[in-house]
Amino acid sequence: MPPTSRPSSSPANTARRVPLETPIRFLKGVGDKRAEALHRLGIHTAGDLLYHVPTRYEDASTIVPISALAPGMDATALGRVISKGILPTRKGLRIFHVVLQDPSGMIEAAFPGQPFLDRSIDKGDVLLVSGPVRFYHGRQLVPREFVNLGEEDSGETVGRVLAVYRVTEMLTVRQLRALVDRNLELLLAEVREHLPNDIADAARVIPLPDALRAVHRPGSVTEAEKGRRRLAFDEFFFDQLLHRRANVLAREPRHGIRFENRRTLTSKLRDNLPFTLTGAQTQAIREIVADMSSERRMHRLLQGDVGSGKTIVAVFAALLALENEYQACLMAPTELLAEQHARSIGRLLAPLGITPLLVTASRSARERRELDERLASSEPAFVIGTHALVQERTRFARLGLAVIDEQHRFGVEQRAALGAKGDRPDVLLLSATPIPRSLALTLYGDLDVTVLRERPPGRLRVTTALRPEKARDKVLQFVRQQVEQGRQAYIVYPVIDESEKVDLKAATTMHAELAEGALKGIRLALMHGRLDAAERDDLMRQFQAGKIDVLIATTVIEVGIDIPNATLMLVEHPERFGLSQLHQLRGRVGRGADASYCILLGGVSREAYERLSILARTDDGFEIARADLRLRGMGELFGERQSGTPLFKIADPVRDEEQLLAARDIAERVLDADPDLRQPRHAGLRRVLGERYARSLELFQVG
Ligand code: ADP
Ligand code: MG
Repeated sequence: MPPTSRPSSSPANTARRVPLETPIRFLKGVGDKRAEALHRLGIHTAGDLLYHVPTRYEDASTIVPISALAPGMDATALGRVISKGILPTRKGLRIFHVVLQDPSGMIEAAFPGQPFLDRSIDKGDVLLVSGPVRFYHGRQLVPREFVNLGEEDSGETVGRVLAVYRVTEMLTVRQLRALVDRNLELLLAEVREHLPNDIADAARVIPLPDALRAVHRPGSVTEAEKGRRRLAFDEFFFDQLLHRRANVLAREPRHGIRFENRRTLTSKLRDNLPFTLTGAQTQAIREIVADMSSERRMHRLLQGDVGSGKTIVAVFAALLALENEYQACLMAPTELLAEQHARSIGRLLAPLGITPLLVTASRSARERRELDERLASSEPAFVIGTHALVQERTRFARLGLAVIDEQHRFGVEQRAALGAKGDRPDVLLLSATPIPRSLALTLYGDLDVTVLRERPPGRLRVTTALRPEKARDKVLQFVRQQVEQGRQAYIVYPVIDESEKVDLKAATTMHAELAEGALKGIRLALMHGRLDAAERDDLMRQFQAGKIDVLIATTVIEVGIDIPNATLMLVEHPERFGLSQLHQLRGRVGRGADASYCILLGGVSREAYERLSILARTDDGFEIARADLRLRGMGELFGERQSGTPLFKIADPVRDEEQLLAARDIAERVLDADPDLRQPRHAGLRRVLGERYARSLELFQVG
């Protein structure tokens, strides 16, 4: 059939195929600039676009006609901007305001302190706004959130389900929706079902192409939810297949190394420690020693709140390996953290005459060669490094123990790869994200769990306070005071740049604003996830060395860095963060002898206020995690949106518990019957594992 014989917009047109691996740049409607914006969202291929599912939906049942908005309501409305302007207030705050109109009427919406919105919101744009309605010279809506739909015809939008996507600056929701509309049918034609019928039936999920259509262009919110559940099941299911398989391999054969508790090094360390171990640490070490000296291979997760002292427990385990003439390694997620471990562990081990070896990508070629040789010799060594440790060139002659710090930052394949570096070394995973034991078992499969409940004594509690927007000047003055006293501070924002999606203060803009305003003359620096790892580490080093007073950042500072002189953690838009994430951020301060503060700044809804006050009430990470799980679900617990390493993109283990349990049972059944997934009926599963989880190949020897 000649390709020109049909209009190209017809869904029936299959003359032009767009394989899902097509780079997004080659999709209709995507130019260089838009491609870049899409890349920022993690959308690199046509398939990524298909899996970029809406974050929420609005429909006639949730959108309130403007005429019906009344003071006291907290509502979502949709209207066109018919006028706009910036008003100064007596206190010097500048308010951006617009008048919104829908077929039923008009209302004013005010955005205090956000004059910059004037640049991105134009007359004629259609805004979707949510927030409280108050009485102020008439009715006024104060949006907590908004989506700029551009010039979309509001009449057409109301009455059907409106998919709201995560977007970025440079790309509006409307543009993204248009792009999806234009390509959806073409892309759906490429989607192949990978679940055999009996699995789909057992899981009670709808076919994949239907699910993808339903999430993007649902006829109703219920339909969208059905689609989402199918996609959630898939995420869980493949995750479970990988975990189960990794665990089977890790345990098989079950025999591991049988270390002897010789106490040559461990006792020496105990005698030379600058502090006394807590009861919880002693108990954890006892459990680990028992594991390591048994014949069974150790596969243990050590959970403990930030600052609970997990590292020293791992060091004892490493010394047990060393005194048995084995090598031990500790893998950390960033270079800076690896360096910090090498330094602090180096200090602890100096009296024993042991110097840890540091393996990272930034060692010189010569150093790296020497290190490689050293590891390939069977001499005992304590190796600390980054993911450079799992690179192919890194070979251990006699690895007895592999420790993975901040383990949730690594993928299951990386964890498995490190475990495969020796002849069945024992494996110890460290995690500061306290999750309930049952959930740990479900997520990480068959492992043993030790929990450090107690915190080392003598640490000052971080004073935590919620401050409203009107206290901004005072709070910033306090930042200045701390700096004048020689202390350092972090200021954390939920996003890097201002966007049209939501009215959030962004790190970049606020960095500029503070440098010219409230924090003028103070040494500020800006750090976010678009800097590469080396640049970020470099900034952290300068901060550590006291060359920067205030670090303005997104949550990239979250990892376990120790800067005792930092005494203030200021978080803007705290309602945007999960409690556990805020708790981790708070853990960045209070690491020295000085009184430390965590200030959550911003006007928040009553509901958010109640949630956030949990932080002020307790500093027990487990209690906080439980509250998080109850209130917001799993994603928040891991702060996935900021960390860039989502555990699941779509699924939520709490909300989608039913799918999770089904995935677990079905994965177990499938692997029991077909451990290598060799049966033809499982070809679809192998295909997805190969495509989507490329690094898992070796687990299944897919090929
Ligand atoms: P995390 O569990 O967050 O990784 P670390 O292992 O980094 O915590 O320990 C935090 C700090 O507490 C370190 O400076 C460490 O030296 C110190 N520390 C660990 N155990 C004790 C203890 N029993 N008594 C006093 N300080 C301790
Ligand atoms: Mg740590």
